[in-house]
Amino acid sequence: MSHSIRHKAEALLRDDYPLEDLVKDKDLPKILHELRVHQIELELQNEELIRTQQELATAQKKYFDLYNFAPVGYFTLDRSGVILDLNLIGAEILGREKGRLVNKPMLPHLSPEARPVFFHHLDVVYDTETRQSCELSFKNLTGAKTYFLAESVVAQDSNGQSVCRMVMTDITWRKEAEKALRKGEERFRIALLNSPVFVTEQDQNLRYIWIHNSHRTFSTSDVIGKTDAVLFSDADATMLTNLKRQALETGQMVHREIKVTLNNEPRYYDLTIEPAYDGLGHQLSGVLCAYVDITHVKEVEDALRTSAEELKRSNAELEQFAYVASHDLQEPLRMISGYVQLLERRYKGQLDPDADEFIFYAVDGAKRMQSLIHDLLALSRIGRRERVVSEVNFNQLIEQVLINLQVTIEQSQAAVTYDPLPTLMVDPTQLTQLFQNLIGNAIKFCSDRLPEVYISARQQADHWLFSVRDNGIGIPPAQQDRIFMIFQRLHGRGEYPGTGIGLAICKKIVERHGGTIWVESQADQGSVFYFTIPQ
Ligand code: ADP
Repeated sequence: MSHSIRHKAEALLRDDYPLEDLVKDKDLPKILHELRVHQIELELQNEELIRTQQELATAQKKYFDLYNFAPVGYFTLDRSGVILDLNLIGAEILGREKGRLVNKPMLPHLSPEARPVFFHHLDVVYDTETRQSCELSFKNLTGAKTYFLAESVVAQDSNGQSVCRMVMTDITWRKEAEKALRKGEERFRIALLNSPVFVTEQDQNLRYIWIHNSHRTFSTSDVIGKTDAVLFSDADATMLTNLKRQALETGQMVHREIKVTLNNEPRYYDLTIEPAYDGLGHQLSGVLCAYVDITHVKEVEDALRTSAEELKRSNAELEQFAYVASHDLQEPLRMISGYVQLLERRYKGQLDPDADEFIFYAVDGAKRMQSLIHDLLALSRIGRRERVVSEVNFNQLIEQVLINLQVTIEQSQAAVTYDPLPTLMVDPTQLTQLFQNLIGNAIKFCSDRLPEVYISARQQADHWLFSVRDNGIGIPPAQQDRIFMIFQRLHGRGEYPGTGIGLAICKKIVERHGGTIWVESQADQGSVFYFTIPQ
């Protein structure tokens, strides 16, 4: 295409080529062709423009959606923290309508502790013109706190002004999780601090990777990276390593009481070894051990055991002494009482009245001494003799007791009744004595009514509960514990005879059979003596 033809076509389009000249122009067809080409070019350009406009509209829509609905807050801020623009999520974060936030400061929405952080962040972003991030917290309308990660850059706005573009991502859940984790860790730390537990973690080769610091036996630097072989004696280390290997090999918890020597002193621990797993919980990574120091408990236990043994020994000694003393006293006493009774028989009424009185007291004293020694001997025999148990039918046993007490029963006109009783494995001699004492007392401590005694037995969870009920003088509640002690009597001998040993014997017999004895009573209302015999 020659230059002049394009030139003429352009002139024509500019209305600069008069029509009368054009029609005369020999290049007319070429000029018209040029005009057609030009028109096609224009149409193409037009289509391009429309497409670009459509693309722009689509991009704008995308941008709008992204800007407003991406789950992040977009803010444009000036250096003083005034919000120049924000997206809908940004408005949601601040809990206000967008229209009420534009051109207003961000400050009032921030929690007090986030305010200095925010302004410092803006300063650094503007000063360095580099991308910066910080964590900000907001108080929402319900008063709950929300946390955001703010990431900012400096950009130019359409007027060429520097503005801060800030993206805010909600990290509240992460913060809450961190808080919960910190709280859990804090609780764990405090619990450990105040507990006598020493906690350690060892890897698969049983090298220490962590110890709970408050324990003073080892410091962290003593222990980390080392094995039990470096810390304990050979024997202790072998014992500990074997237990820990067992936990590693079986994947099962191991729990033992152990004794180790530390600083030349024996120490006892209640040791729990738990297999430890990697973060995902799949792979065995070592062992976690909790050592509870029970040295003190062991010492107390030892002291208790020693003193219990001591007590048992001295008790046995005392019993032996009581037995020997009462046994050996019997002989001279028999002599004394034999001879004073002889004196009484031969010389009563032959000397002066004073002598008769003296002899009476001597005979009475000797008799009392005899029954005392008899009862003491009975008491000390219970502890000395091995219990010989056999199957005892209690109905027959009571029959025997009633025969033993026949004279007393007849003299007092007592009515003794009993329910059908069980058959149990007991020491028959001791149980006979027990019932004899209780029924004897029930008859002895009677009021002005004729004595009525009733014996019964009831089966309970793992024992039989026996009761001996009377209609006698009763026992005031305040005295009810005392009467089971040796020599404790509630009456003078003038009122009711006795040595004060009978119930002590009963208590000893019941306890030797693994049971307990007690009384329920009120003064003047009769008494019920209860005792249990395990099955
Ligand atoms: P003793 O019968 O030789 O006095 P016990 O040890 O048998 O000694 O009894 C201690 C005391 O308990 C008695 O002195 C009496 O005061 C009281 N006691 C025992 N049994 C009865 C009972 N069935 N009724 C009222 N008091 C009783």
